[in-house]
Amino acid sequence: MIDKKLKILFVSAEVSPYAKTGGLADVAGSLPKALSAAGNDVRVVMPRYKSIQSKMSYVTDFSVQMDNAKETCIVRETEMEYNSGNIAKSLPVYFIDSYHYYDREGIYCHFDDGDRFIFFCKAVLEMLPKINFQPDVIHCNDWHTGPICMLLAEHYHKQSFYANISTVYTIHNLEYQGNFSPDIVRLFNLGYDFFNPDKTEFYGQFSFMKAGIVYSDIINTVSEMYAKEIQTPQYGEKMEGLLSKRAHDLFGIVNGISYEQFDPETDQWIVKNYNADSYKDKKENKQAVQKEMGLPLKAVPMIGLVSRLSGQKGLNLILEQIDNLMKYDVQFVLLGTGDEYYENEFKNIEGRYPGKVAVYTGFNATLAQRIYAGADMFLMPSRFEPCGLGQIISLRYGTIPVVRATGGLAETVIDYDFDKVKGNGFSFEEFSSEEMLKTIERALRFYTKDSEAWENLVVRVLQMDYSWNIPAKKYMDLYYLAIGKRRSVK
Ligand code: ADP
Repeated sequence: MIDKKLKILFVSAEVSPYAKTGGLADVAGSLPKALSAAGNDVRVVMPRYKSIQSKMSYVTDFSVQMDNAKETCIVRETEMEYNSGNIAKSLPVYFIDSYHYYDREGIYCHFDDGDRFIFFCKAVLEMLPKINFQPDVIHCNDWHTGPICMLLAEHYHKQSFYANISTVYTIHNLEYQGNFSPDIVRLFNLGYDFFNPDKTEFYGQFSFMKAGIVYSDIINTVSEMYAKEIQTPQYGEKMEGLLSKRAHDLFGIVNGISYEQFDPETDQWIVKNYNADSYKDKKENKQAVQKEMGLPLKAVPMIGLVSRLSGQKGLNLILEQIDNLMKYDVQFVLLGTGDEYYENEFKNIEGRYPGKVAVYTGFNATLAQRIYAGADMFLMPSRFEPCGLGQIISLRYGTIPVVRATGGLAETVIDYDFDKVKGNGFSFEEFSSEEMLKTIERALRFYTKDSEAWENLVVRVLQMDYSWNIPAKKYMDLYYLAIGKRRSVK
């Protein structure tokens, strides 16, 4: 790694703590801090959704041409604070505000999401000279930001202010591609030349994700395993050919987590703080979850799950095996929101197993932390998983993950029966409910029959490093690669 300080613009549709539906927000709320702590000039930009009520100041406003209409963009700013070596620091977060596009409830799933994020991408680029910030690299994340890479290459690079700006495009989840009817292309005001199968057309639609993959200098995903998997038909979501073509520019970096937000020793949302030395106190957090979720106060293994409720997460495997699982003296605690089907099914199960199953449907960041701290095991039987943060957060809290070995789960969870030295959880490969049940049974046997070894395992995972220290350095390397590529084509 070369040690020069960089100017980095980090662009994301969600950033914790301002707006969050999943892991993208965790990354966007913590990686920039690690990069900033390393001495870089890092700034974050996101849409200003109606729900964001943080104190912010006006920076500038301008209009953005959207086909024939001019839409007003107001840029606002706040400071995202963090601690680095006990020194209070901060970095700027810009909010792209628009009454027309963002002054409504919710983050996604509006009829005009395509328009909303084209406006966002254009506004981000238009904002830069106005705030006098000329980044070395724009770090784009997921489909919402893909067109930034295209807009630079097809238009802005011709202007001297933008000429040196390179791009890194991170795929957090290839399933969400932002594919919209070709009508939308007119909103770019760049003609139709870039709407063809070599560039942004994807099965007749304009694809935001494809725009990011085709036009970025460097692409990465959130684990090396997922970077390989998405080059295959099984995981490639029909983009495997395109991704294989760019294999030389495609990397994988496993996410870290915020040590300020997720720390069993200082977490203000859990009832009893603990660390590797005082791990026995963890059980008070289990009792607190039992009380909060209406379960009996019993010293039985507690299996936790905190997740978006979507097909990706392998929840049907749990539905298939719940009756077999409930034959054991265990408690199962689920916090999740998403597909109504899963919400109803799990609520149903809660009704059928009172005192054993507790389900909270909704988004609740503080309850999530109590479950991470209170459960003994954390279940994640995902069909696919680009990185997965649930298992990493649970490890940080000494809660042993039971996962399907796919993507980032395969990279971060090593089966204890396979490797007693490096093992930190339990995993299965085949996507089948029988395999999942067998793996939970292995974990339960270990928990009940060899409590000393289990405790040693808990202590060991509590001592491991899940911070951004190493991944942030890897991102710096990618930024230098992107900058080098941009300079070489100019
Ligand atoms: P994904 O990004 O696919 O949703 P990850 O495991 O990478 O999955 O990240 C999920 C993040 O969202 C974690 O921080 C998890 O704790 C959080 N999360 C998911 N569902 C909920 C919920 N219902 N309430 C609170 N936090 C949640």
